[in-house]
Amino acid sequence: MQRAIDGFHQDEVGDWVAELRCGHGQHVRHRPPFWVCDWVTSPEGRASRIGHPLDCVLCERFELPAGFTAYKRTPTFEATSIPAGLTTTHSTKPGVWGVINVIEGRLRYVVESPLARELTLAPGEPGIVVPEVVHRVAPLGEVQFYVEFHRAPSA
Ligand SMILES: [Zn+2]
Repeated sequence: MQRAIDGFHQDEVGDWVAELRCGHGQHVRHRPPFWVCDWVTSPEGRASRIGHPLDCVLCERFELPAGFTAYKRTPTFEATSIPAGLTTTHSTKPGVWGVINVIEGRLRYVVESPLARELTLAPGEPGIVVPEVVHRVAPLGEVQFYVEFHRAPSA
């Protein structure tokens, strides 16, 4: 899915990495003739790409960005105490990832476009919430779960 470029940094060998709003990094290499991307070699070129979208495969794989840490968690909810906000479609803010942890029972986790997926969560099988992607949950009988929110350590 498309993610805006928030900035750039260089990796340990000097290659440029675009910092995407989701928290993932993506290499942007200028290695003609295989990869032609000469804008990445100048500060002006990089600045001109801030805010532009890149396709993020890691978001499509529901991969929590490396180095992200939990900063908040919800109370434990049961089938009868799930807030309406979680059972109707909603999403997290840019850069905020969620991990739905089921303690007991099973929970249906429905992710809408562009990732469109339906999963059944159980203890040891958490659901990853991708920033800004609309989703909802529904209890499958008795269930206990909580949601943990993760973000970049610098946020
Ligand atoms: Zn991403």
